[in-house]
Amino acid sequence: MKETFDIKNIIRPTIKALKPYSSARDEFQGVPSDMVFLDANENPFENGVNRYPDPQQIKLKSILSEIKGISLKNILLGNGSDEILDLIFRAFCEPNQDNIITLPPTYGMYEVLANLNAVDIVKVDLDETFQPKVDTILNAANANSKILFICSPNNPTANSFESKKIEKLIKEFQGLVVIDEAYIDFSKQESWLSRLNEFPNLIVTQTLSKAFAMAGIRLGICYASEEIIRVLNTIKPPYNINELTQKKAIELLSIKDLAKNQIQEILKERTILMNALENITFVAKVHPSDANFILAKVDDANKRYSQLIEKGVVVRNRTTEVGCENCLRFTVGTPEENEKLINTLKGLK
Ligand SMILES: *Cc1c(COP(=O)(O)O)cnc(C)c1O
Repeated sequence: MKETFDIKNIIRPTIKALKPYSSARDEFQGVPSDMVFLDANENPFENGVNRYPDPQQIKLKSILSEIKGISLKNILLGNGSDEILDLIFRAFCEPNQDNIITLPPTYGMYEVLANLNAVDIVKVDLDETFQPKVDTILNAANANSKILFICSPNNPTANSFESKKIEKLIKEFQGLVVIDEAYIDFSKQESWLSRLNEFPNLIVTQTLSKAFAMAGIRLGICYASEEIIRVLNTIKPPYNINELTQKKAIELLSIKDLAKNQIQEILKERTILMNALENITFVAKVHPSDANFILAKVDDANKRYSQLIEKGVVVRNRTTEVGCENCLRFTVGTPEENEKLINTLKGLK
């Protein structure tokens, strides 16, 4: 059984000693807006973006807090999930000493960020049904294993991991467990957010890039204990979420049922696309999907991928990923786009 989790044992010594940069806007939050601000060397002429953005994004976080039912103190926003993942590396992984565990085939950014931060990667492949091998993972961990990355629903396989398996990993892994829920809003599984308070070593990341249709504004969301959020807040760039991003996110999140309706439409289209793929002669297997994309095995992925490009349809070729030989990944598009994909596939020789 593992020792009681204490964030102080996980955090890098250099980070523990850091004092956060205190920006001009940090020092005067929540003061009356009729005050005269001559403290940040801004240009005073109003154009909508002449002032620095709110470094704590209180309004945007309040909306997310309400949508997700999580307190503000447990939320940190990033310039995409990528920034959040990078902050987690920098806070907790000592370069040339610590390691992380990933479960291939999975999202490529964990490996890129580990390399960037000079952190070793221990890879434990998923089993043949794309589920984590819990005991193998726990045995692969050592005293320097700081983070276990669990992507569920997983990219590129599209399935969710069994919650009993995830629960055992959270309970028994000694370090932090990051559950990347980029696709959770398409999933039948419940988000781990509902159990955040139970696990001091749990970090859940989500994004506005997929279900919320805002990939272009770069907004990633991190949910964790107050202690973990406090550490990440200490090291984040003060104005990491720009004014345009905050405004657009607030605007679109405030439109009632916008995302919900789009998600329903995408799920309906996913079923249509799956059925159609099953009937393509050279499709060998359509993997189950709990996300807004489908992984399918074809006869020759490189050949089919090139043929599709020639016809003006770009999909993702995942054939070189472990366990994904001859697999293509199809994002669910609009009804018209999906129809074009299916008709094109049907016409390939
Ligand atoms: C798309 C995706 C993200 C989103 O990253 P952003 O930087 O927020 O756009 C995160 N994780 C996974 C697994 C993804 O597929």
